[in-house]
Amino acid sequence: MRLILMGPPGAGKGTQAEKLQKELSIPHISTGDMFRKAIKEETELGKEAKKYLDSGALVPDEITVGIVKERLQEPDCNEGFMLDGFPRTVPQAEALEKTMADLDEKLDAVIYINVPKEKLIERLTGRRVCKNCGATYHVQFNPPKEEGNCDECGGELYQRSDDTVETVENRLNVYLENTRPLIDYYKEKGILKEIDGDQGVDKVFEDIQNYLRRD
Ligand code: ADP
Ligand code: AMP
Repeated sequence: MRLILMGPPGAGKGTQAEKLQKELSIPHISTGDMFRKAIKEETELGKEAKKYLDSGALVPDEITVGIVKERLQEPDCNEGFMLDGFPRTVPQAEALEKTMADLDEKLDAVIYINVPKEKLIERLTGRRVCKNCGATYHVQFNPPKEEGNCDECGGELYQRSDDTVETVENRLNVYLENTRPLIDYYKEKGILKEIDGDQGVDKVFEDIQNYLRRD
């Protein structure tokens, strides 16, 4: 299965990807996670990406496309993958199509998780992420069993530096301008499935699973 999880920042892509990964046994590829790892490890990519992540701007297409292209050629992607946070621009979508055509692959579905804008700010500013395994929580909507610690691995939870009110506003505007046009792009290709993301985590997951099991 080759999937894209699409939607605005805070829609629940990472949350659903974690659950789907357990179910489908395909890698969860998050470009945001790849950039954050590179920043933490202070690689050349990390130094370049940091400038953009700090303000909520998009990392330039040629950099982003390059890392995804490499990642898709790793052996664990042979049976499928789940992209989260990529593509975010029309040129990225076109580059993905070309890369997949070269690998003789095609997309099975684009899952668009739709959440009203006013809900996204509280979701993003209340998000907490495990430093160790990357699991995602929310202080109010999806709290860990023990405050500050991950249920999965006991790791310390932290708040992403771009999950502040100021940066979140910018990220939502960047989404509207650059990424939202991809909804029509994939609709025209007949592979877009809209899921109501303004429901509990388990209900959203059930709707996605029902769609993927449709045939
Ligand atoms: P994205 O990967 O799309 O940016 P996340 O999966 O990180 O979004 O979710 C953003 C925040 O919203 C997290 O704190 C997460 O726990 C919370 N969240 C995710 N799905 C839901 C949901 N269905 N209802 C309420 N909160 C949610
Ligand atoms: P995310 O973890 O998906 O919220 O992404 C965090 C940040 O990483 C974004 O605000 C961008 O700065 C950068 N980023 C992630 N994915 C992409 C992408 N496909 N294109 C450009 N920038 C990206």
